[in-house]
Amino acid sequence: GSRAGIIDGKAFAAGVRADVARHVARLKSDHGIIPGLAVVLVGTDPASEVYVRNKGIQTREAGMQSFEHKLSETASQDELMALIARLNADPAVHGILVQLPLPRHMDADAVINAIDPAKDVDGFHVLNVGLLGTGQKAMVPCTPLGCLMLLRDRLGDLSGLNAVVIGRSNIVGKPMAQLLLRESCTVTVAHSRTRDLAAVCRGADILVAAVGRPRMIRGDWIKPGATVIDVGINRIAEGDRTRLVGDVDFDSAVGVAGAITPVPGGVGPMTIACLLANTLTACCRANGLAEPE
Ligand code: NDP
Repeated sequence: GSRAGIIDGKAFAAGVRADVARHVARLKSDHGIIPGLAVVLVGTDPASEVYVRNKGIQTREAGMQSFEHKLSETASQDELMALIARLNADPAVHGILVQLPLPRHMDADAVINAIDPAKDVDGFHVLNVGLLGTGQKAMVPCTPLGCLMLLRDRLGDLSGLNAVVIGRSNIVGKPMAQLLLRESCTVTVAHSRTRDLAAVCRGADILVAAVGRPRMIRGDWIKPGATVIDVGINRIAEGDRTRLVGDVDFDSAVGVAGAITPVPGGVGPMTIACLLANTLTACCRANGLAEPE
């Protein structure tokens, strides 16, 4: 068979960031407005620290203001709530992101729902979840939004396609399913209790894997020609080093799929690009200006 097309998420994300930067420059020159993104990190989780640092760098590169707030692992929930209240009230802050996971002594749902929904650039506030689920204008979670952009770029109209989403988290799986339903796909959501997952996957024209299990999905689970979006980021040991792999076994999948995202360089870069796009959107809405596409 023919080799799969490899979807270059890194290049696509660079294009999205360039579009955002152009809009940001115009907001500044025409209206004197600078979009601002506040990122809140509680504790010292190494992966979270890397994400927060990258978000800050890319936010500034797009011409926006980045506000980074670090609280200690032992900070109280009241302290975090007070910070969120200040950011909600700050007109220079258009987007607020609280890096997850939070320490166990905090109630993550309560914290997320304390964010002004108009500034909830992660799209995790229950109001935004409800707006998305009912087909209203919402802040859409960044990772599924990035996946959808790649799919639409590759396939155009998704209407009528069979989409299988593996994973049902609030962060990736569920909003991904909502977005695909909105595109008129026939959506199946699989999870750890799904029976004969391989057979379910073989029916998919679009397969989105958001599981967190290295190389679980094998080539013989994939319908020939299907479009495969691998959200998984798994660090595995290889000799005395470590490397990142997806939830899909890329080497066996690449010859079967019609197109597939690599890890790294697929969905990952799209997530931050969509975060910047959401911050720009929030800023435009806050100022009553036309939103970029
Ligand atoms: P969660 O752990 O919250 O959810 C994992 C989902 O996978 C659950 O719904 C779980 O089912 C399901 N699952 C677990 N084991 C199996 C199995 N053997 N068969 C079928 N389903 C299974 O993870 P997230 O959604 O937060 O993240 C998923 C992956 O995506 C991770 O690797 C994460 O690192 C990555 N990620 C990448 C991002 C990016 O920017 N590219 C952003 C966010 C996440 P159940 O509900 O039944 O337990």
